[in-house]
Amino acid sequence: MERINALSIDLEEWYHTELAGGEKSSFSQATEATQPILDLLDRYQIKASFFIVGEVAEQNPDLIRSIFDRGHEIGCHTFSHTLVWDLGEPLFRQELERFQSVMERILGKVKMKGFRAPCFSIDNRNTWALRVLADFGYQYDASIFPLKINPLYGIRGAPIRPYRISFEDVRKEDPQSPLIEFPFCPLTLWKLKIPISGGFYLRILPLPFIYWGLKRINRSQSFLVYFHPWEGSEKTPRLKLPLYNRVISYYGISSALKKFEFLLQHFRFMRVDQFLGLR
Ligand SMILES: [Zn+2]
Repeated sequence: MERINALSIDLEEWYHTELAGGEKSSFSQATEATQPILDLLDRYQIKASFFIVGEVAEQNPDLIRSIFDRGHEIGCHTFSHTLVWDLGEPLFRQELERFQSVMERILGKVKMKGFRAPCFSIDNRNTWALRVLADFGYQYDASIFPLKINPLYGIRGAPIRPYRISFEDVRKEDPQSPLIEFPFCPLTLWKLKIPISGGFYLRILPLPFIYWGLKRINRSQSFLVYFHPWEGSEKTPRLKLPLYNRVISYYGISSALKKFEFLLQHFRFMRVDQFLGLR
């Protein structure tokens, strides 16, 4: 039987990319850039999990209603897309509260089950964030990037498949933990772990390699795809960034939506909460 995987979209604006320098802009493209993704998901009859930035929801309430009405999962990607490392516990609580109240204004009472930190910004420096998520009633987190390849994020040695996450050490499993972690799942080749199923990695790697690698992952386990609307839109403004930041942020945007569609055609997907059997 073909294995089922989990599909997630981080719904944020083009200026929320990790290397764009933190400047916000009055130019919004979230609704326009998300529409083709919603159309593709409808076409292939796939439901996904949307981790949404609260301020994007505030500015695009119709988009949020449309995502919800189409049967996708509504999850949280903080209110302002500030890295959780930079928030501290009181501000993190505030972000979750603001997110909750925006969503209630738009959708009424909806139970939030899933959270993803901006730029995978949860690791052993801020395990308090996991406790806060559990306090707020979240049932799973998808913020652990279990390898160190990016200078900003990643923690070596964390599990590469869903587990009940310890609030003391994110690399450890704790059967009593109220929170399930769905970490990013890399391709493992010998001792090498290579991220292939999301964001920059999906944009820069050639499609035949991604296809081969994902089929290989599926021989032993499922994987979790993450994608951003700005990654698939030709209209994403290109900031004048230093070369490294520019490549990471913008390489492959013109072909990203095609790659995304290819994945929908060749693999089976579902919402993260349903994958985890959560109600
Ligand atoms: Zn993000």
